[in-house]
Amino acid sequence: MSRLLNTVRDDVRALAAYHVPDASGLVKLDAMENPYTLPPELQQQLGQHLARLPLNRYPVPSYVALKAAIRRHIAIPDGFDVILGNGSDELIAIVSTACAKPGAKVLAPVPGFVMYAMSAQLAGMEFIGVPLRADFSLDLDAMLSAIRTQRPAITYLAYPNNPTGNLFDLDDMLAIIRAVGDTGLVIVDEAYQPFAGTSFLPLLPQHPNVVLMRTVSKLGLAGIRLGYMSAASELLAEFDKVRPPYNVNVLTEAAAEFVLAHGDVLDAQAEAICAERSEMARQLSDLPGVACFPSAANFLLVRIQRPGLTGTEVFQRLLQHRVLVKNVGKMHALLENCLRVTVSTPQENAAFLAALQSSLMH
Ligand SMILES: *Cc1c(COP(=O)(O)O)cnc(C)c1O
Repeated sequence: MSRLLNTVRDDVRALAAYHVPDASGLVKLDAMENPYTLPPELQQQLGQHLARLPLNRYPVPSYVALKAAIRRHIAIPDGFDVILGNGSDELIAIVSTACAKPGAKVLAPVPGFVMYAMSAQLAGMEFIGVPLRADFSLDLDAMLSAIRTQRPAITYLAYPNNPTGNLFDLDDMLAIIRAVGDTGLVIVDEAYQPFAGTSFLPLLPQHPNVVLMRTVSKLGLAGIRLGYMSAASELLAEFDKVRPPYNVNVLTEAAAEFVLAHGDVLDAQAEAICAERSEMARQLSDLPGVACFPSAANFLLVRIQRPGLTGTEVFQRLLQHRVLVKNVGKMHALLENCLRVTVSTPQENAAFLAALQSSLMH
C-alpha cells in the first residue's frame, strides 16, 4: 500500500483532511447555516416541482433559467453574465485552475477563508497570507507592498470577512484593486452579503479586474450547493472553459429557481437573523470576560479573556452543554482564544448564551 500511496502527490498526502465534526444531538452553531427551513406549504410545492423533473436528462448546460432567476434576485449590472458553481468552493477551484500558470501566486489577508489557501495549493500556486491588523482591518501598506513585490495572479477580499465577520474599508479595497491593476484578478467574495447591508456589485462595471462571488449557502440553501460569480464577459468566458459542463445538477437548479422566485421568504429570514445578531451581540458584550467583535455576517466572533481560561476550554465546556461552535483560536495568532458562533433562532441563541455563561463560571 505504501508504494501505491506514493502515486499521490506528496503535498496532498501531507494535508490534513477537512474535518467536519459530527453534530448529531448538538445545537449546531459552527457552520453559518440559516436555522430556518422553508414554510411547509412551500416545501410541499417544491417537492411536487422536483418530482416532475426529468432526472433521466442531463442539465441544459447553459443554465439560462437559473441565471435569469439570479439576475432577477440580485441586480447584476447590464452586460454582465454569471457562471454557476457547485457552491462557491467550486468557483474558487475553477478560478485557481484557470490562473495556475507556473510561478503564479495567490494573496489574501489572514485570518481568512481556508479554501483560498487550500485551492491555491491544490492548483500548485504559492499562497501568501498578509496578516490583518489586530482590529481585523486591512493592513493596507502591507497589502500594497505584497502586491508590488509578489505580483499575485489572484487576490481575495471577503466582504465581509470570515472568520472575523467585519467589512473591510471600501477605500482600502479600491486601493488594492487599483494596485493589482491589469496584472491580476481580485475576487470579492460576498458569501455573507445577505447580512451585510452593502455590496461591491454596483462598482463591478468600473473594475474589469474584479470577480464578484456569491453563494446561496448562508442564505438558507447550504444543502443544495450553489454559488455564482460575475465579472467582465471576456474573463468569465475563460473560466467557463474550466467549469465541468454539468457541474450544477437538475435538482439544485430547479430548487434554486423555485426558492429564488420566493426570495421574500429568504430575505425575511435574513432580516430576522440580523435582528438576532444585534440582540446576541448586546448580551455578549454584557458578559464579563468575553469580547464580541462587530459583525456584518450571520455569525459573531468572540474572544474569551478570562485569566486562566482558554478558548479551547470554553469550546469543550460548550460541547458538554450540547452546543457546537467553531474553535478558531488555533487558526491564526490574531484569533487567540476566539470562538466563532453562528447566529441562529432566538431559542438556540439563548441556549448558547446560557451554556456560555455557565462555561465561564467553573
Ligand atoms: C462559506 C463560505 C464560502 C463557501 O460557500 P459555498 O457556496 O457553500 O461553497 C465562500 N466564501 C466564504 C468567505 C465563506 O465563508
